[in-house]
Amino acid sequence: MPNSLPVVAVASLGGTISMTPSDAAGGVVPTLDAAQLARSVPGLSDVATITTASLRQLPSASLRYDDLMEALAWAEQQVAAGAVGVVLTQGTDTLEETAFLLDLFWTLPAPLILTGAMRAPQAAGADGPANLLAAVRVAVHPESVDRGVLVVMNDTAHYARWVSKGDSLAVQAFVSRDGGVAARLVEGGPAFFHARQTRPQPLTRPVRAWPKVALVTAVLGDDGELAELAVKGGYEAVVIAGQGAGHVSFGFAQRIGALAEQVPVVVASRAASGPTACETYGYVGAEIDLVRRGAHMAGWLSALKARLLVAALVASGVAPGALGEALANWSTLARR
Ligand code: GLU
Repeated sequence: MPNSLPVVAVASLGGTISMTPSDAAGGVVPTLDAAQLARSVPGLSDVATITTASLRQLPSASLRYDDLMEALAWAEQQVAAGAVGVVLTQGTDTLEETAFLLDLFWTLPAPLILTGAMRAPQAAGADGPANLLAAVRVAVHPESVDRGVLVVMNDTAHYARWVSKGDSLAVQAFVSRDGGVAARLVEGGPAFFHARQTRPQPLTRPVRAWPKVALVTAVLGDDGELAELAVKGGYEAVVIAGQGAGHVSFGFAQRIGALAEQVPVVVASRAASGPTACETYGYVGAEIDLVRRGAHMAGWLSALKARLLVAALVASGVAPGALGEALANWSTLARR
């Protein structure tokens, strides 16, 4: 039979999905490459013709911006060469960040899928092979086109914008708390719950070195000294994971006013879900006061994602004055 299967390009970046035991390290470390991962998946060659590349072998906490921009360029090349979709395998610890960062720059209709594993390959019930198979099934499906970057884990597809790691070790680790999951994998293919929505305009590629953007959590009894120290130490922007709907103490609010005269300051929520408010609370340290002092509110973006967006906007050469509008494109939902 002639091979008329669609081509899916798979690249490995490391993570638990690729880890095997090391006596020297005393635990599992990344060793397997994409070709080895693909070979371990029963039935994969019935779904697509797989091409593979090994881009990195890293624990995902050690992935850097440049690693991801290289993976992005590689993924674009694979689509230009005929792949219907691209799958990147990586560690799950930073998956909610890397997926969002790649989504900011992904311009193509073809799906870019990220997956990983919570259990290493030698563990009973290892989930890597099933996740890779599910990712490839999503990659070849026509309904996956034009949805940007998706994370596929545990037979569920998540949008990059909403996904977060909700559990440190459980196999069911990923959640999409506010927007909901994109699709469930049912009987061999993704069942998408909603029609595709217009995506925000992707960012232009970085034109300068990536800035250091601090992420500071507002905590009880805290007046924001860390945020001030970060700016003194050369950080070019600050994201604050504020209390509740984006709130800080009186003292922290004063500091935000002073800092916002020097660098972009964005206030997100430290809660696990929900947006920042914009017109509800009027006290010192709440959203109306913080915006008056020059801060931007992160809307629906988690603090982790807001930090990446600010870094990417600055790297892409967006002027400080245009930052608010650019942030709003990615962080707000249309309201009636
Ligand atoms: N739990 C992580 C994983 O699933 C640990 C390693 C990493 O993030 O690279 O891959």
